[in-house]
Amino acid sequence: MSKHTRINVTPLAEWLPQTDEPLVIAGPCSAETETQVLQTARELSKIPAVKVFRAGIWKPRTRPGGFDGVGVEGLRWLKQVKAETGLLTTTEVANAGHVYEALKYGIDILWIGARTTVNPFSVQEIADALRGADIPVLVKNPINPDVQLWLGALERLSHAGITRLGAVHRGFSTFEKTHFRNAPKWDIVIELKRLVPEIPILCDPSHIAGNRDLIPALCQKAVDMAMNGFMIESHISPDAALSDAAQQLQPAALADILDGLEYRRPQGDGEPEEFLKTLRAEIDLTDAAILEAISRRSEISEKIGLFKKSHNMTILQVGRWQQLLEDRLARAGKLGLEAEFVKALFQIIHDRSIRMQSEVMNRKTDNPSNQDLKDVS
Ligand code: PEP
Ligand code: MN
Repeated sequence: MSKHTRINVTPLAEWLPQTDEPLVIAGPCSAETETQVLQTARELSKIPAVKVFRAGIWKPRTRPGGFDGVGVEGLRWLKQVKAETGLLTTTEVANAGHVYEALKYGIDILWIGARTTVNPFSVQEIADALRGADIPVLVKNPINPDVQLWLGALERLSHAGITRLGAVHRGFSTFEKTHFRNAPKWDIVIELKRLVPEIPILCDPSHIAGNRDLIPALCQKAVDMAMNGFMIESHISPDAALSDAAQQLQPAALADILDGLEYRRPQGDGEPEEFLKTLRAEIDLTDAAILEAISRRSEISEKIGLFKKSHNMTILQVGRWQQLLEDRLARAGKLGLEAEFVKALFQIIHDRSIRMQSEVMNRKTDNPSNQDLKDVS
């Protein structure tokens, strides 16, 4: 169980110009030249939903030798962007020195990158440098799927007095093969929202996708998941970009994607309808039945554990697990359920069953001699 979270969040509507559409932060992965920055910003400022211009000037690169950003010089270009287009500006900060420079140049919003969110020392250093500063900060999810690290970073900033806070879902590193550069994990996003309901969450489809083709579908998904906006990479000539070339969009392509989105609201077009209420009641009943079935299954597992213990059998019987999985997948197939989902579900159920049986095996009170000792002590 997580500790009770108290993060004081100023609503997004109070610190950013609002439109009916979700907020869009757009701009190149990296600021490269003054011309590239200004040309990109001019084009993006023609898109009404784009309110904030992003550009990385200190770039965290996986391996040394890559383009690691233009540094402080880029901050002057961002100032020019604001003066010329009226767009607010944002850049990534990863240490106290970056914070100091960004504040000095009047950057409007800071963001903490995924590689920094994973490191509590770095986040604390940034939070300390921000103490007393009145600036909004967006926190990208950590590269590993750990909601507590994400939450911890928000808490550190909150404790430093930052209230204009937001989170950015940019996907997570995973060993599983997926179509994405960083797999989206909506369950983690939902959990963060549950822990801090007031926090605005933006989606960064660029770093999730890793290539332009997946971006439209991800944007629609983000809208359907009631995300509050986007951070999207856009470059005046994406293919020539010095970082993340495959995932950047030309400003016009970004405008097309935004135009094509179907906006839905949590309440839909009117009051929640009777129909939806009936279906939700059915879902509630079905979930109750699922929980009861799981509880019944646990009781049986416990009995099996006791039996295995008294017969000196190993907990894991690989043959049985293989057979069980095959059977469940075959049944699932007949019911039209996806194999991948059912496999993951039974892996969780089986893991728990193994854990419960280990507990039974190691439970001292079930061992008559220990029980006797306990009774006389
Ligand atoms: C970026 O926004 O360019 C970036 C480096 O992002 P992330 O921290 O999500 O990798
Ligand atoms: Mn990038």
